[in-house]
Amino acid sequence: MSRDTALASAPGKINVSLHVGPLREDGYHSLASVFLAVSLREDVRATRRLDPGIGLSVTIADGLDVDPDSIPLDERNLAHRAAALLAAHAGLEPALDLEITKRIPVAGGMAGGSADAAATLVACNELWGCGLTREELATLGTELGADVPFCLLGGAAVGLGVGDELTTALVHGLVHWVVVPAEFGLSTPEVFRTLDRLRDAEGFDAPEPHTVDAAILAALRSADAHALSTLMVNDLQRAAVELAPELRDVLGLGESLGALAGLVSGSGPTLAFLCEDASAAHALAEALRHEGHAALAVDSPGAGARVH
Ligand code: ATP
Repeated sequence: MSRDTALASAPGKINVSLHVGPLREDGYHSLASVFLAVSLREDVRATRRLDPGIGLSVTIADGLDVDPDSIPLDERNLAHRAAALLAAHAGLEPALDLEITKRIPVAGGMAGGSADAAATLVACNELWGCGLTREELATLGTELGADVPFCLLGGAAVGLGVGDELTTALVHGLVHWVVVPAEFGLSTPEVFRTLDRLRDAEGFDAPEPHTVDAAILAALRSADAHALSTLMVNDLQRAAVELAPELRDVLGLGESLGALAGLVSGSGPTLAFLCEDASAAHALAEALRHEGHAALAVDSPGAGARVH
């Protein structure tokens, strides 16, 4: 029976390991990354309407300090593009409203827009009875953005290529984090350009990244936060800090307030602090808020995009 409405959600991510290769001729960089989905999720409700087209509205969840004007409500929005893409694939004319509930920082390096696209694909697949598998949706999702397949998959995964060649990694038990969104965004392309510039100035030829550190995968398999804290790495961190030097102070603050380690999430500027356990994460979030920073305690792994 066809439905009138479908609600889906999809997770944001932290890259616990991110190696960036040289700039390729197609303008992308090869990556070797370990993606970890977190409990911070976007909701997307897709509802049929009579007139053709795709309507879009965004509600910002409590606790997220985001300027609604920073989110486009037209075909530039990844959720809009996801619905249009699936409709074209299924050979139907879209006539629906999409309501996004945002919990993931915008332009923060946690794949918020990609999570919206993933949740939209899953919601519309259900609404229209397309019957596509998760793998088929991921293939479509690659056209929208390199992080969309991971937001569909969730859990933990090794990502090669531009981050879209995913292999699921085993994770056992929960790892706890505090996510600290910044009051500003960083443009992902600009962060990559900055890394290229820093490397050029040093005469550093980045090697092609073909693999990730097996010890990181072992730490995730055993939910060993202490081991993970010594192994986390993000090649983009120095570029994000170059563009926004205040990030260095916040990283130091989080570590001095009890985090096992902090790192820039993806291209930043959101920071992710790894904590010993759930109570340490809640205490750190409280302490950071006391110092005037937005801070959210989250855990990982989070499930992939799913219908509710
Ligand atoms: P990534 O980690 O995948 O690089 P991000 O989390 O840093 O992404 P997003 O929040 O996905 O960044 O959005 C980056 C920009 O994309 C925003 O500044 C906004 O203009 C645009 N955008 C398009 N669709 C969305 C969406 N659904 N939600 C938020 N921003 C969107």
